[in-house]
Amino acid sequence: MPASGRVAVYDVPNGPFRLVDYPLRPPGPGEVLVKNRMATICRSDIHTWQGHRPGPCPGLLGHEIIGDIVALGADVKQDMRGDPLHVGDRITWSEYFIPGDNYYTAVLDLPQKSPGVDKYGHMAATKAPHHHGGFGEYCYIVPRSWILRLPDVLSDAEATPLNCGVATMIAVTEAASIRIGQTVVMQGLGLLGLYGAAIAKARGAQAVIGLDGDADRRARSYRFGVDLALDPALDKAELPQEILALCRPAGPDVAIEVCGAAQAILQGIELLRIGGTYVLGGVVNPQAMVTLDANLILKKMLTVRGIHNYHPRNLIEALDFVVANRVRFPFHELVDGQYPLERVGDAMADAAAQRVLRAAILP
Ligand SMILES: [Zn+2]
Repeated sequence: MPASGRVAVYDVPNGPFRLVDYPLRPPGPGEVLVKNRMATICRSDIHTWQGHRPGPCPGLLGHEIIGDIVALGADVKQDMRGDPLHVGDRITWSEYFIPGDNYYTAVLDLPQKSPGVDKYGHMAATKAPHHHGGFGEYCYIVPRSWILRLPDVLSDAEATPLNCGVATMIAVTEAASIRIGQTVVMQGLGLLGLYGAAIAKARGAQAVIGLDGDADRRARSYRFGVDLALDPALDKAELPQEILALCRPAGPDVAIEVCGAAQAILQGIELLRIGGTYVLGGVVNPQAMVTLDANLILKKMLTVRGIHNYHPRNLIEALDFVVANRVRFPFHELVDGQYPLERVGDAMADAAAQRVLRAAILP
C-alpha cells in the first residue's frame, strides 16, 4: 500500500482545482480502500462546484466512481449480493453511506434518507480519511455503504455511471410504476433521460416520448429507446397533439422530470392523462420554485412523487439492467470525454458547458 495519494480540490465556487497529497492508512473495521479507476462528472458535481448547492471547501467532488480493491477491513468478506470480495476486484458502491440502523432503515424502508446520511464526493478534503471522493487516486469506502462486484463483461465506461445515474433512474421508473404497454414522457434527454428511456422500455413501456430543447440530444435519444423526441418549446397546441398520436386515446400514463428545470413541471402535469403519474428526479437544487394550478392535480387525479437518492436494491437492479441491455442500447457511448486527474478543471468546464455528455476522470 502506498503511503499517500492525491486528491483534486477546489477552494471557492467556480475556482480552479489543485492537487493535494494526503496520507493513506490501512482500512479500519468495515472499510475498504479502493484505487479509483474512473469517476464520471455528474450534473450535481457541477452544481456544487458552481455554488448552486451547499458544498464545504476545500471541496473533494466525484461520487460516480468505480475502483479496484487495494485492502479490505478485517470484517469485510462479501458484497451486498453475498459474492466474496478480494483484493484486486473491480467494484462499484452506493453513492451514500449511513451512520447506522434507525427508524428509516427499520420501519420506513428508506435507508437512503437516514438521519446523518452523507455522500462520497460531498465532503471537505480536510475531513478524515481525506480520500472520500472520485476526484482522487484513492477512496475509502466507509461502513454502512453498499458494495457490488462488477462483472468483467462491463467496460469501465459502462460501469461508472451505475451508482448514481443508472440507480437513480431505476428508482425513478420504479416510483412511476411503469407497466407493460404504457406510454412515458421523459422531460430532459441528458444522461438520466437516456437511461430512463431505456429502462422504461425494459420495464415494458410501449412508447417513450423525449422532450429536450437540444437537437443533438434529441437525435441521440432514438438509440436509447426514445420513439419520438420533440422540442418542449414547440407550439402549445402542436406538442400535445404529436404526443397524443403515440399515447392514444387518453394521453401519456407517466411523465418524468429529469431536466432539472422547475418550469417544466407544469408542462409535464398538463400533458399527463387523467389518473397519470408524475415523478420528479431532476430538480435537486433548493429553491426550485414553480407556480401551478393545484386544481389540475386534483381534477386529473394525478399521483405526484419525488425521488432523492435511491434504495440499495436499486444499485443491484442498475447493474443487472446494464448487463442485460448493453447490446440493445449503446451505453458505452455516454462517457464521451476522458481526462487525467491533473485536468479536472478542464473536465468540469467542458461538462458545465455541455461540450461532453459525461466527462470521465481517470485518476
Ligand atoms: Zn450524481
